[in-house]
Amino acid sequence: MPLEKYKEKRNFKESPEPAGDTRLAAERARKIKGQKPRFFCVQKHLASHLHYDFRLEHDGVLLSWAVPKGPSLDPKTKRLAMHVEDHPIEYGEFEGVIPSGYGAGIVMLWDKGTWLPEVEDVDAALKKGDLKITLNGYKLKGSWVLVRTKGAWSSRGGGADRSWLLIKHKDDWAGDVDITEFAPLSVKSKGDFADILAQDNPDIWRSNRPAKSGETGAMFEKIIARALEMRDGKTTATTKATKTTRTTKR
Ligand code: MN
Repeated sequence: MPLEKYKEKRNFKESPEPAGDTRLAAERARKIKGQKPRFFCVQKHLASHLHYDFRLEHDGVLLSWAVPKGPSLDPKTKRLAMHVEDHPIEYGEFEGVIPSGYGAGIVMLWDKGTWLPEVEDVDAALKKGDLKITLNGYKLKGSWVLVRTKGAWSSRGGGADRSWLLIKHKDDWAGDVDITEFAPLSVKSKGDFADILAQDNPDIWRSNRPAKSGETGAMFEKIIARALEMRDGKTTATTKATKTTRTTKR
């Protein structure tokens, strides 16, 4: 069953993540084949550790890799990409807060667009462990390759040995700018993690945040504090606006 592993890991009563519509998946799989552009996205995900989830539409689902350091535009910099479970197509537009459970933290839609396989047979390329792709996103463009370093291909994904490398090919879109530093914000809301949390419920992790210690714990602490500030700032602004309106009416 497609997305079995994705569904196993999540409780959709607790998580705002999409459960995935089987009919939509079948329809996309039927329509989008061969050299037709397919959806791709990268979600910046602050959970137990910060990472970038790299997702390519194929056969009605999003093939997914977790890239701890995020993509690099420098062809000399190979970025570790851990193959994880397929995600539903609908996940591609998801941005928000996962309050608890698997992946608890903040998800930002960091890049999205379309991709094209540079080979005819994507399944054969995945099996072989060498998938050449062209990306057309807001931030990531041009030719890239995913190369498997260990283990066999499993469409279920998620094993500890599913290690791949994400590498930029030399072209006009390659360069030495650190794209994660240069373009850190959401392509959906234009905000950062604190904005996304402030839009949601900045109080949820006051006592029990997804990561408490180390660098990630410190990041959460700052983000929560800023989200609370924004929320409280907004309250004040609204109150003032209301007062002004009343004064004007009088
Ligand atoms: Mn993730």
